[in-house]
Amino acid sequence: MKIVIVGGGSAGWMAAAALGRIIGEQWPIELVESEQIGTVGVGEATIPQILLFNGVVGLDEAEFLRATKGSFKLGIEFVGWGSPDDRYIHAFGGVGRDLGLIPFHHYWLQARSRGDRSGLAEYSLSAMAAARNVFMREDPLPGTPIGSAAYAYHFDASLYGAHLRTHAEKWGVKRHEGKITTVGQDGESGHVTYVELEDGRRIEGDLFIDCSGFRSLLIGETMGSSFVDWSQWLACNRAFAVPCASVEPLTPVTRATAREAGWQWRIPLQHRIGNGYVYCSDFISDEAAAETLMANLDGEPLGEPRQLKFTAGRRQDFWRGNVVALGLASGFLEPLESTSIHLVQSGLKHLVDLLPRDGIDPADVAAYNAKLTFEYEKIRDFLILHYWANGRSEPFWQRCREMEVPDTLIEKVETFRSHGRIFRFNEELFTELAWLQVMVGQNIMPRSYHPLADAPGDANVDQYLASTRELIAAKVARMPDHREYLERLCATQPAEAATNEVPA
Ligand SMILES: Cc1cc2nc3c(=O)[nH]c(=O)nc-3n(C[C@H](O)[C@H](O)[C@H](O)COP(=O)(O)OP(=O)(O)OC[C@H]3O[C@@H](n4cnc5c(N)ncnc54)[C@H](O)[C@@H]3O)c2cc1C
Repeated sequence: MKIVIVGGGSAGWMAAAALGRIIGEQWPIELVESEQIGTVGVGEATIPQILLFNGVVGLDEAEFLRATKGSFKLGIEFVGWGSPDDRYIHAFGGVGRDLGLIPFHHYWLQARSRGDRSGLAEYSLSAMAAARNVFMREDPLPGTPIGSAAYAYHFDASLYGAHLRTHAEKWGVKRHEGKITTVGQDGESGHVTYVELEDGRRIEGDLFIDCSGFRSLLIGETMGSSFVDWSQWLACNRAFAVPCASVEPLTPVTRATAREAGWQWRIPLQHRIGNGYVYCSDFISDEAAAETLMANLDGEPLGEPRQLKFTAGRRQDFWRGNVVALGLASGFLEPLESTSIHLVQSGLKHLVDLLPRDGIDPADVAAYNAKLTFEYEKIRDFLILHYWANGRSEPFWQRCREMEVPDTLIEKVETFRSHGRIFRFNEELFTELAWLQVMVGQNIMPRSYHPLADAPGDANVDQYLASTRELIAAKVARMPDHREYLERLCATQPAEAATNEVPA
C-alpha cells in the first residue's frame, strides 16, 4: 500500500508525522503541498488530547514548545456570554472530588440550595491556577486526591506544521512541492489513482488522505462527497485574524469574548498574542468587524487584519472510495472550543484502527464515517449551547436564543435542568465536566440535585466543600508564574526534560 497525503497544513503534517511513525517502515508515504497556495495559517489553541498525539509522534515537550513558541493552556475563559458582565472558565481536568456514588457537583448544588455562594471554579485546580497565571505540569503537592492540573497548548500553527515536518521526514515521509492540477481516477471503481502537478509530475498511490483545506480537492471535488451545512445553528461565517505584541502576564488560557455579532479570541504565545473576531456577516459589516478587532487588542498590532470565510458543517462522507479527508477538507466547526486540530487527530486514530490490509472494505469505511459523524455532531451540539444559552441583547444574540436547536441538545440541557444530571455517550469528546462548566457559566441552573447529596448531612457537605477549596488553594500557592515556568522548561535539553523535572 502506498499512502499519498494531499496538503501540507497542520492536518497534512499531522497525518504525515503520525502515519510515518506508525507505519512508515512498512508503507511508503508521500505528501504534496503547494507554497503558492499556502496554508490557512490559523489554529493556535488546542485541547488536552494533543498531549496524546504529540506522544504518538514522539515529540519532546520542551523542544516542541521552543519550536512552536508555544505556551500552556488551562482552559477557555468566556467573557460576556451569559450576560454582558458575566465571566466564567471552561477549565480542563477535574472539578472537585467525587464522593460516594454521585458526581461532586451535586454536593455543590446541595450547598447552594442552602445559600452557599462558592463558585464552581473554586473547585477546579486548572481554573484557580489560570486565575493567578501560574502553571506547573507536575503535582505541586503530591499525594492528595486532586492530582495535577490538566492542560493543553497554544502554539504558532505554521511552526507546528514545520516542526511536525522534521519528524515526518525523519520517519521517511517524502515531500513534493507543487500545485495539483489533475486528479486521475480508475474508470471502474472511481478510486483515485494519481495526482498530477502543474509541471507534469504524477504521484500515484493506493490510499489518498485529503488534507487540502477548504478546497476539499479530493473528497469534495473529485469524489463528490457533499457538504452538510450547519449554518442554521452555527451562523458565524467569517473571521478577521491579527497578531499583536505580547503583554504581561502570560495568561495560561484562551479567552473568548462575546461581541456584537460573534466573539473574539485571544491566544497568548511566547512572542505574541493571536487575536481574531469570528462573526456572522448578516449582522455586522466586514469593515465594522475589522475595526472592532483592532480596537480590542491588548498590545500593538503586528500587521493588518486578515479575513477568512467559512461555513460550519461537514462532508457527508469523510471516507469515500480510497480517499479519507482530514482537517478543513473534512468539515469545519468554528474555533470556539478549539476542536479542529483534535478532529484531525481523532480521524487519524480511527484511520489507524481501520487501516486497510487487502484493499478497502466498505464495512470499514462505514464504521469510520459513523464514528466521525457522531463526533462532529456531539461537538456541534456543545458549540450551539454557547450561542443558544446567551443572555445578550444584540440582534445576533437574540436570533441565537430563538433558534430551534437539535433535539439531542435539548435532551441534554433538560436532563441537567431538572436534577443536575449529565450523561456522556460513547466516545463523545466533551465530558460531563465540560458541559457542567458551560451550562452553569451561561446560567442554566438545575432546579434540584441528586437525593444522595443529602446523605452526608449539611455540616459534612460544607466541610467537604471547604476542605476541597483549601486543598486546591494550597496547590495553586505552590505553582510558579506561567512565563517563568515556561522559560525554564524551554531552556532544558531533551534529556533533562524527559525526567519531568524543571531545574530551579
Ligand atoms: C478562523 C479560524 C480559526 C481557527 N482556530 C483554530 C484553533 O484555535 N484551534 C484549532 O484546533 N483549530 C483552529 N482552526 C482550524 C485549523 O486552522 C485547521 O483545522 C488546521 O489548521 C488544519 O488546516 P488544514 O491543514 O486542513 O488546511 P490548510 O492549512 O488550508 O492546508 C491545506 C494544504 O493543502 C494544500 N493544497 C490545497 N490545494 C492544493 C493543490 N491544488 N495542490 C497542492 N496542494 C494544495 C495547501 O498548499 C496546504 O498545504 C481555525 C480555523 C479558522 C478558519
